[in-house]
This record gives sequence, structure tokens and C-alpha cells, in this order.
Amino acid sequence: MTDNHFLILGAGVIGLTTALALRETYPSSNITIVAKHFPGDRSIEYTSPWAGANWASMAHDNGPLENYDRITFHKFSEIAEKWCEAGIGRMGMWGIFDGSLEEVGIVTPETGKIWYEELVGGLRRLKDEERPEGSVFGLEFGSTFRINTQVYLAWLQNQVLSRGVSLVRREYTSISAVLKDFPKATLLVNCTGLGSLKLEDVKDMNLYPTRGQTVLVAEPKVPIERMYFRSPKRIDPETTYVFPRPLGGGVILGGSRQDGNWSGEVDMELARDIMERCCKLCPELGKPEDLKVIAHGVGLRPSRKGGPRIEVEKLSNGVPVVHNYGHAGAGYQSSWGTAEKVMKMVKKALEPSARL
Ligand code: FAD
Repeated sequence: MTDNHFLILGAGVIGLTTALALRETYPSSNITIVAKHFPGDRSIEYTSPWAGANWASMAHDNGPLENYDRITFHKFSEIAEKWCEAGIGRMGMWGIFDGSLEEVGIVTPETGKIWYEELVGGLRRLKDEERPEGSVFGLEFGSTFRINTQVYLAWLQNQVLSRGVSLVRREYTSISAVLKDFPKATLLVNCTGLGSLKLEDVKDMNLYPTRGQTVLVAEPKVPIERMYFRSPKRIDPETTYVFPRPLGGGVILGGSRQDGNWSGEVDMELARDIMERCCKLCPELGKPEDLKVIAHGVGLRPSRKGGPRIEVEKLSNGVPVVHNYGHAGAGYQSSWGTAEKVMKMVKKALEPSARL
């Protein structure tokens, strides 16, 4: 039997994770990642380096979205335990909400429960005196994950390289053009994030950017012992967050959610507002004027009406294409779960009956 030659288009957190999952599933296959950007690059067209990032599920569908995040949580557990250099660390979090439990969108309607309560080691209701003024309720997450995106992306890239995956840096205008350059490819996984809005043979009009701005500040002398998050709803333009990153990653302050905004320019007024909100939420940071700003960040979340697209399509030359894009603000926390779903689709697409 000939070995498969897999192509992955895209080298963000989704493309790199997919490559590792493919290597695990098909140990003797050829795998090539083709992308315009790789870890280390900073571009408004490359979302992954700009993420916060942490694991704080937004899913409440009692279905696939919860499952993607659950699988990823377990995988993050394994990574954090085995590879302390991967840039993923455990940490508790205070989630503060400015609306009632029913309003904030964290309960799964079908079950009436917060599905990840057990997974994160319990959710303790904060006492009134622990919460900032004006908030309605707060939850302490026992233990979840924070990610130093700079370290984690480089680690993922090292993992794929050490497993014999080839990297090719190129920009393409269509998937058909990629397949033309790699005639031996048996299957392509499309992990281009927002790029799928522009690829001529994908042009997914359900995709749109959700702009997010962050401020990276120096770690204060008194360590911050937990992550903080405050919002009227779980997904809201006014969400404020403070994530102390592991391994010298500083502290990331956010945030903003601006749907349809493509601007890669830093909005200094918004940056000042973020710093003020974060200092109010996390007193360990001190006053806004005490913050030592290291960098401002702007990234575009690959949002998609209908959720992430994970499905098979056959283009005109007959090579199956498995799409894996549109992870919005959950690309890290759902990465391993969506890669697992992709593996199921790859297996199915390669069955002899599917090749007819
Ligand atoms: P990208 O990282 O954009 O990668 C796309 C890849 O495709 C790149 O390599 C690019 O070069 C390549 N590509 C695209 N088009 C082409 C083409 N035509 N030819 C060749 N190559 C191409 N997620 C979380 O889970 N937790 C968080 O706390 C979190 N916080 C966030 C905070 C902010 C401010 C932002 C902006 C995002 C946040 N996210 C978070 C979301 C997360 O960052 C994204 O979901 C994720 O990075 C998307 O990854 P991706 O690999 O799909 O896309």
C-alpha cells in the first residue's frame, strides 16, 4: 500500500495541531505544511500569536463544541504534565459577571448546568466582598490553563519538525493551485483561518473578523496568583481579562471584540481603557500609570456564522479537502478536539469506497 501524502495549508495553532494529530494517526505518511506565516511571524493575517490565551470554554451546545473543548482540556493536562517547556501552565481563575447566571450564557440550556464544572476542579461562588462593585456574581475556577502563545507555537513547530513533517513557505490564491504544485497529495487539510474568506475556491462568506486588542505588560514584583475575567456575558465586546502567562510571558491585558473590523492599527484610546479596566479588576497590577507596557497587540479572530467548519469537500481534481477553520475566539481551547474530528473525516475520506 502506498503511503499517504498529506498537505496542510496553514501553520497557526490549528494547522500545527492537525499536523501532530495526523502524524500520530498515520506514522509512516508524508506530511507537508504549506503556509505564508509560521511561528515567529507577526502579521495581522496571522491570528495565533495574538491570542490571550487561556482555556475558558464558551461552548454550551451540549454537543460538538463542548466536546472539542473537553478533549483539548485533557490534552492540555497531558502536555502541561509532560512538557513544562511547552508554554501551557495550570492556574485558577476568577470569572466575574455583570449579569445573572441565566443571562450570561455559561449554562447549557439542555442540562441547566455549567458543563465544565468538574473538569476545572469545581466552581466556587465568590463571596460578595470578594467581587468588585457593580458585579452580580463571580465564580472561582479551581484549575484551568493559561498559554504563553509565543512559546507554545514554537513548541508545536518543534514537535512537528522532530516528527519529520516538512514545512514550505508559500502563499496561494486557491486550494487547487496548492494541489497542482503537489501532484502526489492524497488529501489536503485546510487550516487557513480567516484566509478561507479569500481563497478563490473556498470564499466562505460566513467568515468575518472579530478584532481583539491586548496590552502585554511586565510581571509585577508581587506575583499574580490567578487569572481574572470580567464581563456582562461570557461573549461580550466589553470583556476585561488579565492572564499572567507562564515561562516569562509577562501579563496579557485585554480585551475587546469588534466584529467586522479589519484594522491592524493599535487604538491607543482603547489600550488606555483596557489598562484602566484591568487595574480595577486585578489590584495586584497597581495603578494604570505604574504598568510597564512591553507591547500592544491586535489580532483578528476567525469568527464564522454557524461555528467552525469541519467538513470534507471534493474539489474538481478529486483530491479530498478537509476544512478545519473558523475557530473564532476558541482556536487554542478547541484545537485538539477539532483535530480529532478531522482525523475521523480523514479516515472516512480515505476509505476505498470514498475514493470512487
Ligand atoms: P491563524 O493563526 O490565522 O493561521 C492561519 C494560517 O494559514 C497561517 O499560517 C497563514 O499564513 C495561513 N494562510 C492563510 N491563508 C493562506 C494562503 N492563501 N496561502 C498560504 N497560507 C495561508 N483562543 C483561545 O482558545 N483562547 C483564548 O484565550 C483566545 N484569546 C484570543 C485573544 C485575541 C485578542 C485573539 C485575536 C484571539 C484569541 N483566541 C483565543 C483565538 C485564537 O487565537 C484563534 O482561534 C486561532 O489562533 C486561529 O488559529 P488558526 O490556525 O485557525 O489561524
